[in-house]
Amino acid sequence: MEIKTVGVIGAGVMGIGVSQNLAQTGHQVILLDVSDEILERAKQEIRNNIRFQNFFNKQNQSDSNNILDRINFSTDYSVLSKAEFIVENATEKWNIKKNIYEKIDLICPKESVFAANTSAISITRIASVTKRPSQVLGIHFMNPVPMKPMVEMIRGYHTSDEAIAIAKKLLAQMGKECILVNDSPGFVSNRVLMLTINEAIFLLQEQVASATEVDRIFKSCFGHKMGPLETADLIGLDTILFSIEVLYESFNDSKYRPCSLLKKMVDAGLYGRKSGQGFYSYS
Ligand code: NAD
Repeated sequence: MEIKTVGVIGAGVMGIGVSQNLAQTGHQVILLDVSDEILERAKQEIRNNIRFQNFFNKQNQSDSNNILDRINFSTDYSVLSKAEFIVENATEKWNIKKNIYEKIDLICPKESVFAANTSAISITRIASVTKRPSQVLGIHFMNPVPMKPMVEMIRGYHTSDEAIAIAKKLLAQMGKECILVNDSPGFVSNRVLMLTINEAIFLLQEQVASATEVDRIFKSCFGHKMGPLETADLIGLDTILFSIEVLYESFNDSKYRPCSLLKKMVDAGLYGRKSGQGFYSYS
């Protein structure tokens, strides 16, 4: 199947990166969110990201107007009627995603493939609300999307080999490779990462170490590029909380109980980089 138009749902941290990456690799994109204000901010952020890329890559300059011309910003789901492939990046809440998949299943062409860029929700569960479970899979993109060459791809219970092949081809066009895993809430990456981040927040709450000290142990002792609290700020603390809540509900296991400091920070609007303040300050 030839993919001409990709629908990207959700214009937050991930939807912005996915749309930019697709448009920069020559794809026509429809970027969808719930308000014009969010879409306007997304457009501005893509422009800024390209300017930033150009600053560091003098040999390979991108024209932000050309790239933005390939993205149709919309709040109207009906425009997805011509999208052969969907990457869904809406808020990590089951009810939000469930409504979206029920809706796009009716609107998109019968042969379209749906890729859920979820952090933790089971792909088999997402597929169950559609009439095309063999065409639903997970593509867990890494953040920032345009700079990360590897994704975790998730095969749901009914996902077909054909859908996997179509997704791999699109990813290759985006300059990415994938590691394919079977479905389980949180997959491989976030089953480990979310627990690590949550435990790091417990350590901070118990005043065992400061945020900087926690992160330095991972960077200086283990050679990680970023510590768990810096990573949490990059992902977004709201997304971390929603993801660990999904794991808690999915496994009914108390080891996934979210740390109360994480809940308090989210209630206070301290989401990390995207709000300007999390474990660190970004103003
Ligand atoms: P975000 O909060 O930055 O953005 C979510 C966007 O979804 C918002 O702009 C919101 O308005 C929009 N949205 C909500 N309901 C919608 C609807 N009905 N239709 C269209 N748009 C809707 O979150 P994010 O960090 O971009 O995460 C998006 C998804 O990607 C989540 O499922 C998350 O778990 C996953 N994810 C996040 C990261 C990360 O590093 N942040 C990495 C991989 C996967």
